[in-house]
This record gives sequence, structure tokens and C-alpha cells, in this order.
Amino acid sequence: MHILVIGSGAREHALLRALGRDPGVSALSVAPGNGGTAALATTYPVDVADPIAVADLAEQIKADLVVVGPELPLVNGAVDELVRRGIPAFGPTRAAARIEGSKAFAKDVMAAAGVPTAASVAVTAEDGIAGALDACGSPYVVKDDGLAAGKGVLVTTDRAAAEDHARAVLAGGHPVLVEEYLAGPEVSLFAICDGEIAVPLLPAQDFKRLGDGDAGPNTGGMGAYAPLPWAPPGLVETVQRTVLDPVLAEMASRGTPFAGLLYAGLVLTKDGPKIIEFNCRFGDPEAQVVLELLDSRLGRLLDAAAHGKLGSVGPLSWGPWSAVTVVVAAENYPGSPTTGDVITGADLDGVLHAGTVRREDGSVVSNGGRVLSVTATGNTLAQARENAYGKVAQISLRGAQFRTDIAAAAVDGRVSVPGTA
Ligand code: AMP
Repeated sequence: MHILVIGSGAREHALLRALGRDPGVSALSVAPGNGGTAALATTYPVDVADPIAVADLAEQIKADLVVVGPELPLVNGAVDELVRRGIPAFGPTRAAARIEGSKAFAKDVMAAAGVPTAASVAVTAEDGIAGALDACGSPYVVKDDGLAAGKGVLVTTDRAAAEDHARAVLAGGHPVLVEEYLAGPEVSLFAICDGEIAVPLLPAQDFKRLGDGDAGPNTGGMGAYAPLPWAPPGLVETVQRTVLDPVLAEMASRGTPFAGLLYAGLVLTKDGPKIIEFNCRFGDPEAQVVLELLDSRLGRLLDAAAHGKLGSVGPLSWGPWSAVTVVVAAENYPGSPTTGDVITGADLDGVLHAGTVRREDGSVVSNGGRVLSVTATGNTLAQARENAYGKVAQISLRGAQFRTDIAAAAVDGRVSVPGTA
């Protein structure tokens, strides 16, 4: 099987690494890729935001399966175009990708399917802001109802700041979603879906804030770990029953079955797991740790999902170890990251590339906000954490930013679900 992976982040590097371990995968291609993916796959510099360009490339290289990593090509209809041409693709159609693209749509699906989530009020005009904030209460959760990659959300106890954010989102032409605040640890759970069946992967936790102790601005994600030693028993089964199965049934009944990766962003509240968001693709950096633990054939799994045949795939197996990834970001990320700096240590095993390019002389240069995702495993979470930071210490990038506390609270037993401590 020849698989084409679309994207250029550490998530796609992790996908290629895991697909490369599948003995059924004979060739790998990537578009547009990054400075690290060329070692695993043939690179095609294609504009992946353009569905026609993606489908033309897949035809030209005779790909047997296309795996679409990022949300933008999905929302632009890459999978629709591939399917129209009879090319198997792993990812949702444009209509199904709305579960990520519109938070109001996701809320509507959840309401119809009875999925536990935060109460919310959609606001489309300034005079609705105050009432919505009153109804949902403090801490205020104010979201931009557009594709903002987690960056359009403000959580604050400052009423004036909440009102300002809501007004700014409306002024930008997007509706606002005001939500009830959910207290508890966050969990990311991925499910491979074929339109009818959802196969959950291992729960992971990511770190969205830039700084240690969750200080500083929101980012695309600064690190992750799995498995979760503190997760309540039966968590995955509960989410399968209360979230995944009902959502797949609801999407199918609307004529837009969800096939591809359904990412459930959960808060484990005292009343059980509740959804804060869905994404329609693998989360980055959680994919880097979850895929590192997968001991089943990823190519076979994604191919079965693309063909509506997940029923024929047996239970997944997982390595009995832990994985930690630490994101190394450029100076000034998430604002206007500095690019063009030479990186040393970028070719260490487990160092997954994101914003990098490789020069002709083989040197690796930074080319984006999140530059590397340094991933390691260990027999225990503590060991995996130590191994990951050991590798980070061998990397040098001028002005590099990284968190020093990825997985630290879990290792120290400081994470607990409200009501169970
Ligand atoms: P989202 O883009 O919806 O995932 O939101 C980004 C981040 O904001 C989440 O990862 C949470 O940390 C926080 N957040 C979003 N919604 C809520 C909520 N209802 N209650 C508490 N925190 C939230």
C-alpha cells in the first residue's frame, strides 16, 4: 500500500513514523512535509489548501490511500474531491468536518445526540453579550465560533475582559459562543471512525498554555503524554457509550456520516466526562504520544476506516510503556515567531519536526512557531519524561521556548478528577 500523508507538522511526522512501522505499507509520500519527513517519505511541494492539487497529486503518484492531517484541507473539501475521483481517503468530508469548523453546529449535534457538554449560549449581536455572560456565570468562557485552532477562546473571571473579547469576535464577523465553565482535568481522546463505527485510541493529555504551570497565552499545544495514570477506570468505555456512538449515529442520520479521526476534547467533571470541543483530525501534540504507543498496524487501521470496514479490525494493542512529547517553539511564539535559525540535535531519534526546513547541506533551520516535538518513551511515565527532557537538553535553537513541566503533575500524583480524590 502506497500512502500519501497531507500536512507539514509534527503530527504528520508522527503519522509517517507509525505508518512506516506497518509491514503492509510499501511506500510513503508527503505533501508538503517538513525538514524531518523527507527521511521517511517522498516529498511533494503542493499547496495542500487546494483540494484539486491534493487529488491531482494522489492520482499522479497512484496513492492507494490519502491521510489528511490538518483541518484546513479537510474544511476546504480535500476528502470530497478524493472520494469523487474514487481515491480512498482517511478524513471527514467537508460537511462532516463542520463538527470542528463550527462550534454552534457541534453543540447542535450534541444536543440532538444527548451528549454531555457545557451549557452554552450563541451570541450574534452586541446586545446579547451581557445576558449570555449572566446566564453562564463566572469563570466566563467566551469562544470565537470559527476555525481558530484553540486560539479564539478566553477563559476569565474578569467581566470586562470577557465582554471585550466577545465584542472583538463579533467585530471580526464571527458569532460568539458563551459557555458554562467546566472544572476538572482535560483529556483528549481520539477515535478512528468509518461513518458507523468508532474505535477509540488511548486517552492523552496536552498542555495548551505557553508557560509552566499553565501560565501565558494559549498555543497550538506545548506537550503531551499518555497513558494517563490517573484516568478513572472505564473512562474510554463511558466516552464510547455517551459520546462517540451517539455522535456517529447522529451524523449519519443527518446524511453526513463522520469518517476519519474524531477528537473528543473532554473535561472530567464531578458529573462525568463532558465535551468541550470536537476536532475532525488528530490533535498535535497528542498524536505524537498516542501513535508512539500504538502496537497495531496503523496503515491497515486507517485503510479500513476509509473503506467503511472497521468492523473487520480486531481490538487494538498498545505497548506497555509511556510516552511524553515536549514541544520546542521558536522565539516570540505564539506571536510572530522568529524563523531562519539553525537547529542542532534535530536529527536525534524521536525528535519530530514541525516548523523546520532542511538546507541542501543537510542543516536544519527553523521555519515556524512550533519547531520540534521531542518525543520519548519509557517503562514508566517518569522515565519517559526524563528521556524526553534528556533529548531536549541536546537540542539547541536560539531563543527556544519549551515547558519544563510536561507530565510533571501526573508523575507526582497531583492530577485528580473532582469528586474522586
Ligand atoms: P477549545 O478551543 O474549545 O478547545 O478551548 C481551548 C481551551 O479553553 C480548552 O482546552 C480549555 O482549556 C479551555 N476551555 C474551553 N471551554 C471550556 C469550558 N467550557 N470550561 C473550562 N475550560 C474551557
